[in-house]
Amino acid sequence: MDNLLEVCGLQTSFRTEQGEVVSVDEVSFQLRPGETIAIVGESGCGKSVTSLSVMRLLGKNGSIKKGKILLNGKNLVQLSESDMRKIRGREISMIFQEPMTALNPVFTIGNQLIEGLQHHLRMESSDAKAYAVGMLKSVGIPRAEAIMKEYPHALSGGMRQRVMIAMALSCKPKLIIADEPTTALDVTIQAQILELMKKLRDEYRTAMMLITHDLGVVAEMADTVMVMYAGQVVEEADVFTLFENPKHPYTIGLMKSIPHLVCESDERLVSIPGAVPSLLHMPQGCRFQSRCPYATEKCLQSPPLFQLGEGHAVRCWLSEADIEKGEDVPNEYA
Ligand code: SF4
Ligand code: MG
Repeated sequence: MDNLLEVCGLQTSFRTEQGEVVSVDEVSFQLRPGETIAIVGESGCGKSVTSLSVMRLLGKNGSIKKGKILLNGKNLVQLSESDMRKIRGREISMIFQEPMTALNPVFTIGNQLIEGLQHHLRMESSDAKAYAVGMLKSVGIPRAEAIMKEYPHALSGGMRQRVMIAMALSCKPKLIIADEPTTALDVTIQAQILELMKKLRDEYRTAMMLITHDLGVVAEMADTVMVMYAGQVVEEADVFTLFENPKHPYTIGLMKSIPHLVCESDERLVSIPGAVPSLLHMPQGCRFQSRCPYATEKCLQSPPLFQLGEGHAVRCWLSEADIEKGEDVPNEYA
């Protein structure tokens, strides 16, 4: 099937007081209808900037320097702001971590839903109202008619998140970008919301870009995974390959930092020592070298993205050796 979204060689930078910083560098990926790609990494790795680039919501200091973002073949990078406004909400919509940033506190839930439907789908107000109630019901909101009259602050975090999902889905967008959609919620609600998003995604064949640092969410939701570090893609693979056979030392480190449900007495939470380098002072060569237990002299040169197998790409010199010798990359975190 044809790709819905193709991001090719995206580079996004921001003007700061200390100069121009490149937040996302040479990022490429594709997404088909109904498919979910998870973008994983610590904060500051460029996950959110990648998604905001697709939405063209970079603020006045951010800009796309290179690359293409094709939505059904149309290059979003070249669209005017007014054309982009027609795409946001209608063709691509976004679910944020904190629903209060997306919901307007001074309007009722009903008004906000109806307004969106009138604006994007040109519905009459009575049709929009009935449709909005239906959407609230479909995301599992009880007493939907009564909730229509409530203001956002009157709802719990889980309910607000459901409302935001209803809003995001109400125009049946082709692509949903969900940035840490369940991070602020407790575990039970989190599981319910993920189930709901999966159900709706499958029903509407919506493609999804899921931004998360939670590998449990990735395993639950994603078809493919893109691991980012310091603005670059360091590993990309289908979800099974990534969990079964992670190759980049950073990915391996992330895997080791997942808390296991059943803990052996000597098993502890390993986190990767050190921090993501500042975008202003990027090291020469591999960006992960200061935290990598396998770094060698060679890592002072920037590794390219090596293609290991179908859809599996790794930005690490060990993978070159792997390809040459047919040997396995060590899977130990020293
Ligand atoms: Fe580690 Fe070198 Fe691979 Fe970078 S290129 S991840 S420093 S081994
Ligand atoms: Mg973020």
